[in-house]
Amino acid sequence: MREVTHPAMSFLPYGRQLIEEDDIAAVTAVLRGDWLTTGPAVAAFEAAICEVTEARYAIACANGTAALHLAALALDLGPGDRAIVPSVTFLATANAVRLTGAEVVFADCCPHSGLMDNEHLTDALARADGPVKAVMPVHLAGQCTDLAKISALAKAQDLAIIDDAAHAIGSRYLKGNDAAKPIGDGRLTEMTTFSFHPVKTIVMGEGGAVTTNSRELAERLARFRSHGMTRDPEQLRNTALAYDEQGKINPWYYEMPEMGLNYRVTDIQCALGLSQIKKLTRFVTKRRALAEHYDRLLSDFAPLVRPITRSQNCEPAWHLYAVLIDFEAAGISRAALMQQLTAQGIGTQVHYIPVHLQPYYQERYGTISLPGAESYYARTLSLPLFPGMETDDVERVVDALHDCLNV
Ligand SMILES: *Cc1c(COP(=O)(O)O)cnc(C)c1O
Repeated sequence: MREVTHPAMSFLPYGRQLIEEDDIAAVTAVLRGDWLTTGPAVAAFEAAICEVTEARYAIACANGTAALHLAALALDLGPGDRAIVPSVTFLATANAVRLTGAEVVFADCCPHSGLMDNEHLTDALARADGPVKAVMPVHLAGQCTDLAKISALAKAQDLAIIDDAAHAIGSRYLKGNDAAKPIGDGRLTEMTTFSFHPVKTIVMGEGGAVTTNSRELAERLARFRSHGMTRDPEQLRNTALAYDEQGKINPWYYEMPEMGLNYRVTDIQCALGLSQIKKLTRFVTKRRALAEHYDRLLSDFAPLVRPITRSQNCEPAWHLYAVLIDFEAAGISRAALMQQLTAQGIGTQVHYIPVHLQPYYQERYGTISLPGAESYYARTLSLPLFPGMETDDVERVVDALHDCLNV
């Protein structure tokens, strides 16, 4: 399949979409049709997410942040509640908790993988100044947090789990001797959220989704997505207004049992998402091959540069290729390295500034120290990884790294 022409890929960003002619055809077909929003492409995209994740329900929405907010609302998080969020994540994971009025308790993370494990979760529970309702593990870079262990602890502590899988569509987790299962299958967590932003593995421009196996949660997610509204006869309460004299529901009728938002997603976006999600296996295979090529070429670079530690309980669909660099030993700052790489046509990025260090959260919760997250942050750098790259691009990046680090 031909990629839509970009001026010869001379600059390698850290991530970017791969849009092909059939993706464009899928979008234009919707533009010629009857439905621009809340139409058949949305339902078809949700069905495709269910197929890929093996979840019973999928609710597509405006973006990954909306997905997190919807999930937090569906758990009834609100003022007086607390939720545990690992500090190595994008702002949105924590912000979704605050948007409900609940408080965030930041958990530390492994300094070598950036993942939160039970040790960090236990520590965060001990620091919480009141009852904790939920925990929100993040599958950083596409590696799974150890869901089997986290769900056992969460069950014992009566915590619900929303896993943020913005990086992890197509990743598979392992539990005991079971066959690997797709992230988002709803067996070990209440809800899983996804993002389909252009740097993510499947792209819609903007887009997101929540998966769950609970019918009740799915109904609430769908209601919150659209103003808290429902037309489902089983959910209607105001019978005097709802029914005509023959006992039929009035054709204009809808009800709002609780407050909601407009987090709907268009058919235009979902047509792109559907076309893209059909390519998930190809994209994931390509990302894995590129990551393995990086691994091979970087193997003699340790301990100065090494890939983040591989998690044992997961078959990752790599979203990021993150390495840890000992900048002190290398005698170069991260900013200087990034600038030198940019000058050589190579884009890199830092995922992430630990969220507990953000002024908003420091003002709210005071200055806390999470040494694992801070150590991970001090050394991490994400190198270019996207399905339109080839192995010689990987070689170009590694050569440039050698060059800039003088090794
Ligand atoms: C991208 C991302 C989000 C937010 O998704 P948007 O679609 O950009 O709103 C949330 N969490 C993580 C970890 C992300 O990487």
